[in-house]
Formats: sequence, structure tokens, C-alpha cells
Amino acid sequence: MALRTANDYRAGLRDGRRVWAAGRRIEDVTADPMLRVTVDHSAEVFALAEQPALRPLFVYDDPELGEPASAYFRIPRTAAELRARGDLIEENTRQQRSTFNITKAVGTDVLLGLLVVAGEVDRALGTTYLDRVRRYRNGCARRDVTMALAQTDVKGDRSLRPSQQADPDLYVRVVRRTADGIVVRGAKAHTTAGPVADELIVIPTRAFAEEDRDWAVAFSTPLAAPGLTMICRPIITETASAFDNPVSRRNIEIECLTVFEDVFVPWERVFLCGEWQFAGRLATAFATFHRYTAVSYKPPIGEMFCGAAALAAEYHGLERAGAIRSKVARLAMYTALTRAARLAAASECRFADGIAVPNGAYSNAGKHYFASEFHDVVAVLQDVAGGLVITAPTEADLANAETGPLIEKYLAGAKGIGGRRRLALMHLIRDLTASDFGGYNMLVTLHGEGSLEAQLLGAYRDADIDGMKALVVRALAP
Ligand SMILES: Cc1cc2nc3c(=O)[nH]c(=O)nc-3n(C[C@H](O)[C@H](O)[C@H](O)COP(=O)(O)OP(=O)(O)OC[C@H]3O[C@@H](n4cnc5c(N)ncnc54)[C@H](O)[C@@H]3O)c2cc1C
Repeated sequence: MALRTANDYRAGLRDGRRVWAAGRRIEDVTADPMLRVTVDHSAEVFALAEQPALRPLFVYDDPELGEPASAYFRIPRTAAELRARGDLIEENTRQQRSTFNITKAVGTDVLLGLLVVAGEVDRALGTTYLDRVRRYRNGCARRDVTMALAQTDVKGDRSLRPSQQADPDLYVRVVRRTADGIVVRGAKAHTTAGPVADELIVIPTRAFAEEDRDWAVAFSTPLAAPGLTMICRPIITETASAFDNPVSRRNIEIECLTVFEDVFVPWERVFLCGEWQFAGRLATAFATFHRYTAVSYKPPIGEMFCGAAALAAEYHGLERAGAIRSKVARLAMYTALTRAARLAAASECRFADGIAVPNGAYSNAGKHYFASEFHDVVAVLQDVAGGLVITAPTEADLANAETGPLIEKYLAGAKGIGGRRRLALMHLIRDLTASDFGGYNMLVTLHGEGSLEAQLLGAYRDADIDGMKALVVRALAP
């Protein structure tokens, strides 16, 4: 098959999966007024691949399948191919109003991490995981599936390892091994796109000790597997106005708590089972690819911020004011530095078993930079835009015969910009920075792809600290 349409994707989601949201059981995620908003967002990855101008970026000839496939599945063999993966993620995000579409990116990040680590496990312990991972990866590429990734365990007491927790189910674990497969129990938090993906891939969240052997498990499962329940965060519904919520009404991800109540996983879908020594290695290998994805999808958000600030300045007649220009320039720099981290991570990649692996120093530094600066750049945009961002009337007020003309006249800006146009821009800025979705953007920027501390740990690991110490010692030499 190798290339599906958006409607093929929607049809695949009608499989009886157990999804709950706001206290309701959602029988069909493609028919629900809330879930459908995020289904449509995810489906766009298929529609974009059909656009002639984007096809060369979104589709490639897969040598293992012998047919065209989604470029998300390309295994990067060179720095140029790794860069092309970043170009794809960046352009996909730009096409979707700066909202990341995770459904093919995160799954292929973890497939790449698994391809790298499975070989290492096999060489060290004589297992045969690499062959399984390859077959699974080829099947996913051939079926052109979307994937969610469940790595973050619910974790209970963060100071304790899984085997030390009062409740052993606070990290996902193997409760039974049978001739046909394993049975897993536990829960993972914050699973983006789980309710609207075809496949779920599960990997450990951190390094483990030998006593944590039963928690060292990686596998994949269909989302409709018996015993699997997803409890979603609420998002906007399709009855909301796209004028008032220009981004989040059309482009939004959903997260869920993913609960495994004795879910059976056949052996061909098991990629780690008890090899505790490799749990941390797999977590890190995935994170290296995923932080590269992060520095790839973030520049379009910087572009939106910069463009919105520049337009607000124009609408206010302030585009020539030096102080305002400096603020717009700061937003342009935020975007440029984030993109620079991605380009450096690709061009300075390393190779593992013939796979181009992003340079961890640059992707960690880039992710930490854009996350730790994000709240500040939100403030810069809000500063330039002014208070109307949160005091603006709505589309319904514009449509009203009595209030609409008042808004058009009194909320007008410079150079003939009418109230409607100015209001549209203010709603965009509110949606991105000061709405429920704006708050989400702040949190996802901080914690998505791992908390700030995780990037610092990665940066420390990848830095040549000994080399730098030697430099200082040399400088101190008499
Ligand atoms: C919107 C969103 C989408 C996400 N999508 C996904 C997804 O698709 N799949 C997935 O697997 N995960 C996902 N994540 C999870 C994300 O990677 C985590 O939120 C992040 O790793 C932090 O984990 P946590 O939320 O459990 O916070 P916590 O672990 O509770 O961290 C809170 C704070 O405590 C610190 N901390 C934690 N443990 C320790 C310790 N032992 N010692 C010292 N300090 C500690 C952390 O550094 C942080 O500062 C998503 C998160 C968000 C917010």
C-alpha cells in the first residue's frame, strides 16, 4: 500500500478503541465534535503529501519496500538525508499554522532509536531484536501508519526507581511471559495523539537497575488492544469559532493518560524485555532523534510570533519605531538560532550502524534554548501587540448588526486597517499565547521532549568536559 489518503486514515480509526474525554466514552473519534478537530489536524499529514509542490519533500522511494512511501519513514544514511528529515518536519509544521503534527514524526523517531539500540542489545546479549524491529518498521512504512509514543511513565514518587515504588504499576511492567508473548500493566502519561494514531510504541522512560528488570520493556500495540484505555485532556470543539481561535480550532494535538490493564503483546511486537542495562540507552537514543524533531518543528512558531509582532506594529503605525523594531528582531533571532541548532545537529551528525544520528550537543542545546526562552518571547509578542489581545470582542459581536460597525470603526488601526482585520490578528495572538491553547503552548514547550533538566543532562554527557578542563590546565601552565 505504502501511501494512504486522509480518508483511509480516518477509516482506520474506527476500530472500537476505548477513549474517554470529559467523563464521556467516545465511541468513534472521527465522529466526535471534539476529537474530530484533532483527527482533522492529524489527517493533514496525508493531504499535504498529495500536494504536487510538497510531494518531493513528503514522499520518497523506499529501497526496502521497493515503492514510494512517506518520507517520515526514510532512514537517514547521510547528513543531507537527516537535514531533509528536519526540512520535512519544519515545512509540515509551517503548513499547519505552526502546530506540530506529531503522528508520523514521533513514531519514526522511536523507530530510528530502536534500529540503533536493537543491534547493540543483540551484539551484547545474543538476542534477535534488530530483525523484529526491521520487520515492524517495514510493516509500518508499508501500511503508512500514524504512531504515538508512550514513554513517560506516571512515576509516582520521582525519587524512587520502579521496583522501589509502593505500587509496582506506576511504571509500565511485564506481569507475565507466555509462549506467545507478554502481558503488560501500568500507565503512561501525556501520550500525544494516542487517541488518533494507528499504532502505539512503548519504551522505558529512564535508566534502570537490575531489580527493575520487569520494567525494562519496549513494545508496540494497536490502540484497540483489549485492556488499553485512553483518558484525554479536553480540547476545543468544532462548534468554536475559527475567527476567534484561528489556530487551535483547526490545528491542535490531544494528549491522554494511557492505561494498560493486562494488555497482551505478541513476541513479534516486543523490542526489549528484561534487558535492564539497555533501558536508559534506548530512552536516550529516542530522545536524541526526538529533540532533533523538536528543533525542526519550533522555527515556524518563531516565524508566526515574529510575523504577528511585525503586523501588529504596522497596524499600530509603529513599524518604524526603534524600540518596536528591536523587539521584532528579537523574535527573528529566536527563530534563527533554533533553526541553526537543527542545521548544526544534522551537519555534525554521527553514524551508528549506517544511520545518521543527530548531534546530541546541538539538538539538546537548541531544545533547551527555545524552551527556556519561550516565556520571554511570548512576553515580547504580547508587549508589541497590546492589551486588545485579551480584551477583544468576538466574531459574534462583529456579525451583530448593531455592534459590528462600532467595532469596525473604533478598533481600526493605522493606514486604513479596519477593526475586523485588527481583531483577527489579535485573536491569533491570543490563541497562540493567552488562551487555553496558549497555556498549553507554554507547557509543551517546557516539558515536551523532556524537561529542561533532561537536556542539561544530555548536554553534559555530550560535552568534551575533559578536553575543556585540559584547555584550562594548559592556560594555567607557567
Ligand atoms: C503537552 C505534552 C505532550 C507530551 N507528549 C508526550 C508523548 O507523546 N509521549 C511521552 O512519552 N511523553 C510526552 N510528554 C511528556 C514529557 O516528556 C514530560 O512531561 C517530561 O519528561 C516531564 O515529565 P513529567 O511531566 O512526568 O514531570 P515530572 O517528572 O513530574 O517533572 C517535574 C519536575 O521534576 C523534575 N524531576 C523529575 N524527576 C526528578 C528526579 N528524580 N530528581 C530531580 N528532579 C526530578 C523534572 O526535571 C521537572 O523539573 C509530553 C508532555 C507534555 C507537557
